[in-house]
Amino acid sequence: MAYLLDDDQLQVQALVRRVAREKVARRAADIDRTAEYPQDMYDLLRELGLFALPFPAEYGGSGSLLSSCIAVEELGRVCYNTAYLLIVQWAPFGAILGGGSDEQKARWLPGLASGELRAALSLTESQSGSDVAGFKTTARRTAGGYVLNGAKIWCTNSHIADVILVGAQTVDESGRKEGVSLFLVERDRPGLTIGKPEDKMGGRGVPSCPLFLDDVRLPANARLGEQGRSGFKVAMEALNASRPLIGARAVGLAQGATDHAVEFISGRTAFGQPVSEFQGMRWMIADMAMRTEAARQIVYSAAAQGDAGLKGSAFAPVAAMAKCFATDVAMDVATQAVQIFGAAGISADYPINRYFRDAKILQIVEGTNQIQRNIIADSVLGRPARPRKAQDQ
Ligand SMILES: Cc1cc2nc3c(=O)[nH]c(=O)nc-3n(C[C@H](O)[C@H](O)[C@H](O)COP(=O)(O)OP(=O)(O)OC[C@H]3O[C@@H](n4cnc5c(N)ncnc54)[C@H](O)[C@@H]3O)c2cc1C
Repeated sequence: MAYLLDDDQLQVQALVRRVAREKVARRAADIDRTAEYPQDMYDLLRELGLFALPFPAEYGGSGSLLSSCIAVEELGRVCYNTAYLLIVQWAPFGAILGGGSDEQKARWLPGLASGELRAALSLTESQSGSDVAGFKTTARRTAGGYVLNGAKIWCTNSHIADVILVGAQTVDESGRKEGVSLFLVERDRPGLTIGKPEDKMGGRGVPSCPLFLDDVRLPANARLGEQGRSGFKVAMEALNASRPLIGARAVGLAQGATDHAVEFISGRTAFGQPVSEFQGMRWMIADMAMRTEAARQIVYSAAAQGDAGLKGSAFAPVAAMAKCFATDVAMDVATQAVQIFGAAGISADYPINRYFRDAKILQIVEGTNQIQRNIIADSVLGRPARPRKAQDQ
């Protein structure tokens, strides 16, 4: 599919690139080192109105996945964690937009679009990450609504979110399973406890925490979607659709790692000549640039296809290819960049090991790259997607 960036998208690119260079880049190392939530970066993104970007015009956004990808790429080029602030908010947003009732959309989406409210998504449990059908957290139906019990892990942004979208097996009053649903749980609900953040290798500025749900009572309208309509399935499709955003973060990371590698070898000599003149180095840089550009094109093309209305099972493999290819490229390019830095690549005094650690996260989150390959293979081999399995996450 052919696409060109329109004037609005070029403006988003120029604005976010400038802000990333002038205001975000200098904070990146410190956010990674201290693993402290970057409230100043959150405020900056809010001031720029970037949280609204993927939202439809009625919420003040562009409604464009491609514009959102461009913003994420530019931020991810200098600071993975600042780009993460957008993405972690947009996953629950996509779920509520795709699967929420009118009342739920009216309650949550304007605040999420302005950045006044924050959200998190909680699916993963200790025994079930890829395979969401293995949830043990239950939502027992009662006369007035639901009672949630169970434990979750790796819920990013939960420590600060106003609302957490929690996946649970719904069961009727006699304990019979009724399928998986998503529930909108306010963080201050009695019975919900947010545990100690993980000490993470990458993505350190946006904490991921366990959740403990002990008789959390919710009204019936806390279940995502309307009665008789699968909010879960619709929401999962919306999340599938957001995979190009993870690809965009990977493109930004690969570009940023290449920027640093080029700067490093341009100022270094060995055997009496600039390191950048060695053919072995020049070809590594050429491969990094080539693969990053290929990743950019697959991500932009996927996003443009999403913007053009491609949906559901037709869009799933396109989005999976963008996520899987771009994040594999990011890991590869970051690994090459560390090699180019030599010993300095291992030192925390230089930026590049941060890119390497952050790149690894991208191959795991929002459906591992093995799961993306399953989605692609199902599509290529003409098999129906397996709906209650890992592909859904
Ligand atoms: C930094 C970070 C942030 C996260 N944030 C969130 C969050 O906000 N909310 C949330 O709910 N979760 C979050 N997660 C969890 C993430 O979604 C899961 O880690 C991911 O889905 C994989 O699940 P798992 O770790 O249980 O691995 P498993 O599912 O146990 O997989 C283990 C290995 O087996 C492979 N595998 C599994 N099934 C198949 C298959 N069918 N075919 C081939 N290979 C397979 C996987 O690819 C993986 O390599 C986060 C994780 C990280 C690292």
